[in-house]
Amino acid sequence: MAQIIDGRLIAGNIRQEVKQAVDAHTSAGNRAPNLAVVLVGEDPASASYVRGKAKASAEVGIDSDTLTFPDTISERELLSEVTRLNADTNIDGILVQLPLPDHIDETRVINAISPKKDVDCFHPASVGALSIGLDGFAPATPAGIVQLLERSGIETSGAHCVIIGRSNIVGKPLANLMLRKGIDATVTVCHSRTKDLSVMARQADILVAAIGRAHFVTADMVKPGAAVIDVGINRIEDASRERGYRLVGDVDFDAVEPIAGYITPVPGGVGPMTIAVLLQNTLKAAQAV
Ligand code: NDP
Repeated sequence: MAQIIDGRLIAGNIRQEVKQAVDAHTSAGNRAPNLAVVLVGEDPASASYVRGKAKASAEVGIDSDTLTFPDTISERELLSEVTRLNADTNIDGILVQLPLPDHIDETRVINAISPKKDVDCFHPASVGALSIGLDGFAPATPAGIVQLLERSGIETSGAHCVIIGRSNIVGKPLANLMLRKGIDATVTVCHSRTKDLSVMARQADILVAAIGRAHFVTADMVKPGAAVIDVGINRIEDASRERGYRLVGDVDFDAVEPIAGYITPVPGGVGPMTIAVLLQNTLKAAQAV
């Protein structure tokens, strides 16, 4: 039976730490940290994520401004909003909620954010800093995973970490973090062209699934005792639920849990960590001013 890694509990502890640090920051005479969240269009999922970020910020004493624009906003107008936020000394962090409408080049918008305010760690300068081990903002989901491991007492030094998925927001930055001095894992990154994926996965002391396919990781892919981190969020039909679906991860939890040493549930594993790291990053941006 695996030990369940409780992401809600760990994220709650981090939020508490951030709250205490924000209190100390403001008690020292500084204004509260301020996060600007840019939302374009009316996608319900994006709107819900943005509300969650604003609520979590408020709970730890971080001010947040949500700037909402219609999906008819031009790329040029959006870029000038980002430029304005970059120059605003009352704003510490800028987050542009993705995805953006098709007529806007996401890369161009991300590249316009000042690296000093890039609390999502998507700017190429932030990604470069991460890859050569410089201090900077932490990529939210990967840094959340590392903190889950550390705070659960899972040894990373010398561990073989196999990551399934090579996206720019999860797989690749996580590989960079796990390779860092002090974390010291040996890292293998797999993707859709990887041969013998099961054989690769079974070598993992720490197996991370960031694929986006429900129940992809089956029991035969897991080494007994391994720590299994499930990043995936997938909807599957469930007639027993009022909304007609439920959320599951990339790991077949019921089959893998008896074999693994540690496992994250979905929901309640990696998910809550992402906002917790965003709060840590916003505090860090404010402290750097
Ligand atoms: P992407 O779609 O960007 O990347 C998926 C990766 O999985 C790709 O590298 C792809 O390979 C690989 N892949 C797809 N099919 C296979 C296969 N059959 N065998 C091996 N590898 C495969 O996804 P993201 O990284 O953005 O997200 C992954 C999952 O994590 C999603 O469910 C997403 O919702 C969730 N997520 C959760 C977060 C959280 O806070 N909990 C945050 C971010 C994401 P290739 O590159 O070759 O196509």
